[in-house]
Amino acid sequence: MTRVHNFSAGPAALPESVLQQAAAEMLDWRGSGMGVMEMSHRGPQFTQIAAEAESLLRELLQAPPNYKLLFMQGGALAENAIVPMNMLRGRASADYIDTGEWSKKSAQEARRYGGVNIAASGAGSGYTAIPARETWQLDPQAAYVHICSNETIGGLEYHFTPDVGEVPLVADMSSSILSRPVDVSKYGLIYGGAQKNIGPAGLTLVIVREDLLGQALPCTPTAFNYQVVADNGSMYNTPPTYAIYIAGLVFNWIKAQGGLAAMEQHNAAKAALLYGALDASDFYSTPVARECRSRMNVTFRLPDERLDAAFLKGAEARGLVQLKGHRVVGGMRASLYNAMPLAGVQALVDWLREFEKTQG
Ligand code: PMP
Repeated sequence: MTRVHNFSAGPAALPESVLQQAAAEMLDWRGSGMGVMEMSHRGPQFTQIAAEAESLLRELLQAPPNYKLLFMQGGALAENAIVPMNMLRGRASADYIDTGEWSKKSAQEARRYGGVNIAASGAGSGYTAIPARETWQLDPQAAYVHICSNETIGGLEYHFTPDVGEVPLVADMSSSILSRPVDVSKYGLIYGGAQKNIGPAGLTLVIVREDLLGQALPCTPTAFNYQVVADNGSMYNTPPTYAIYIAGLVFNWIKAQGGLAAMEQHNAAKAALLYGALDASDFYSTPVARECRSRMNVTFRLPDERLDAAFLKGAEARGLVQLKGHRVVGGMRASLYNAMPLAGVQALVDWLREFEKTQG
């Protein structure tokens, strides 16, 4: 078996030890005589699996007791609707910070349910920087302020938690959750799909402050009403059981690595290695302002896009896959989520140098 270095933006690489454990438990989970996929979500075995996953997540995030951790479905794009349905709470509008493709989508969807005020936008810079907090035109009456903590396509990341006063801060953390410590108490709500740092697609995490629950719009589907999901321990309907199981194994893996502080160190080192190599070269260029560079999704360009195909082909021959940038922005993108080892980044850096030499 040869495993590649997979730089996919998501679904993305998972820790090999997690996949091995899942394989070993596939037919018989710990003497139960059945695999996790075959278990009733209300049976004793899965109840234990879900409770353990939730408690590990709470421990990793150091989430305060007044926050509910919900395991939902529908991904971040469904949350783009579910968030305003649950969070408008009788207010006329919400503030959105536009930093690229994903936050733009969030704002567009929210317009179906209430007013949207784009309080700041990076459009003027071609989405190469996050607008400085001092420039945000926030509405003190807003239901919430929405940010995308890491723009997966553009490769921009907040390296600060914006202070938005008393208005709840809501963050789409799909592509940065569990990659670094986060002060949950500064947020009203955090959401994200699991398929990057956490596990398989199909599971969505929602972390929400209790006092914000209970005021969903009447049109909210019951299965997407946070209060209902919370009251039923994320089991109002059948949850994505296998994805929750794998997420639990990943949480355990993160804990064994030293938790989120260790993840941050590891991720910062990988990003520094790759950006360092790109910066040292006149051949490659990076579009994003240094202080906003994502540690998770490193975007870069070759001097001429006619070279892209040869670059990607050579990379693939060296077991470095999924480096093509998102179709909306082009160029290259290397996603360096938690499970990407430093050795994978080193192999990519070696290829960057080798390819540049062949073009000299
Ligand atoms: N937001 C961000 C930041 C993302 O990276 C993605 C997926 N790449 C989405 C939203 C959309 O998520 P999903 O496909 O899980 O709905």
